[in-house]
Amino acid sequence: MTQQPPKSLKAHRAEGVLEIGWPTGESFRLPFRYLRGRCPCASCVDEFTGRRVVGIDEVPEGIEIVAAELQGNYALKITWNDRHNTGLYTWENLRSLCDGGEWLSRQWP
Ligand SMILES: [Zn+2]
Repeated sequence: MTQQPPKSLKAHRAEGVLEIGWPTGESFRLPFRYLRGRCPCASCVDEFTGRRVVGIDEVPEGIEIVAAELQGNYALKITWNDRHNTGLYTWENLRSLCDGGEWLSRQWP
């Protein structure tokens, strides 16, 4: 089953979180720094070994979203203020980041 697209996406800049609402009625608030540190692109994750090269600890605390645009109907493309813009966050990606709850175990930023 393919992941349904989010019903709403809202960047709260003052708090540094992206609020994602799903058609199920659930909503999650993912910190920008966490999202940036989980970027799935080939310069953040080695495509041959699958090893993460740029993780949360490499992301500056002042990370912000400069722009976000839909890529077709399958992903969100985010441009960050560290000039990184090659990450495509598919709905499956975003859903698993929400469900993982990994961001809850850290202090942010
Ligand atoms: Zn990346």
